Amino acid sequence: MIYLDYTANTPVEPQVLEVFCEAESRFIGNANARHSAGREAAGAMARAAETCAELLGVQPEEVIFNSGASEGNNTAIMGIAHASRHVGRHIITTPLEHASVSGCLTALQERGWEIDVLDVNRDGIIDLRQLGDLIRRDTVLVTLCAVDSELGVVQPVEEASAIVREHSSCRLHVDATQIIGRLPFDFSLADTVSLSAHKFGGLNGSGLLWKRDDVEMEPLIHGGTSTTLYRSGTPAVGLAVSLAEALRIATDQRETRLETVRGLNQHLREHMSSRSGVTIHSPRSAVPHILNLGVSGGKGTAFRDALAERGVCVSVKSACSVENTPSRAVYAVTRNRKAALESWRVSLSHRTTMEELDEFIQIFDEVRERLTK
Ligand code: PMP
Repeated sequence: MIYLDYTANTPVEPQVLEVFCEAESRFIGNANARHSAGREAAGAMARAAETCAELLGVQPEEVIFNSGASEGNNTAIMGIAHASRHVGRHIITTPLEHASVSGCLTALQERGWEIDVLDVNRDGIIDLRQLGDLIRRDTVLVTLCAVDSELGVVQPVEEASAIVREHSSCRLHVDATQIIGRLPFDFSLADTVSLSAHKFGGLNGSGLLWKRDDVEMEPLIHGGTSTTLYRSGTPAVGLAVSLAEALRIATDQRETRLETVRGLNQHLREHMSSRSGVTIHSPRSAVPHILNLGVSGGKGTAFRDALAERGVCVSVKSACSVENTPSRAVYAVTRNRKAALESWRVSLSHRTTMEELDEFIQIFDEVRERLTK
């Protein structure tokens, strides 16, 4: 198998799994319980929050452990929208968001919120001037991804943040799922930030939402006090400590891993751009982990399925999106429905080898020959 879908999921780091297993057998109490076993579990949760906070440059009390970025995005967006409904019901977003953001906004729209979607340029970068023009007195939230999962565009979060900060009642939520472990990210630019552990060697079903202390947000999950007010339920100690470990490894190794992936991306780009009929949709400024492309005359799903038959794993849009519809992200940069239907994504990691890429390129050439005949 040649796995080229690291944007959808990364394999767990063996050390992370060890930390998880050790914590699950060691901490037998419910971290919400007030006896010694409970206090030990709560202590482990607190230490995990401290480690994450230090690595992310935030305060431990601001860390809300959860099941991942879908939950984080829903909690932040719904929670801020509801907490500020007396101020206004206008939200601004981008066309490159993950379904857990766009779906959440559609649900709010059906309940009376007004949603504006920013334009992006040919490189997928949001129109900052339009952002400034669109923010109104009743705009309560701007929500954007630091890096999107389809094209890998790195958004100018610092500039967007400066614009949002001019409006005291408007908050900025950043979906940082695809930037963590890949590029540095400054949390202080935002009010809330979501991330998922399984995108950087952590376990599935674990993530965190960071919420700046003074941001008003209604919880999504009600049910009594836990280690945080914002997410009720018995804290998952093993997941929290394993997330802290995954984050530590991903942060320590970030620069060397990035160099490796840059080399792989360059190799792949060189080959792909020399093939006739192949368009690379990811801009050169994108994270090197993601290469979105399309072959004229062949649907993205056809390529994905034909490659899968040969043991190669790639994706069309993101794994959570609806099948057989054009990619919203690729349409936003190309304004071309056919290109949006033909697009698919290769995603790389430091684990990918040049040999794997060369084998993939050979298989791709054979598949392309067959599908575009
Ligand atoms: N946001 C982005 C940008 C993503 O890539 C993903 C995962 N595909 C998510 C949010 C949702 O993460 P999860 O599936 O872990 O909840």
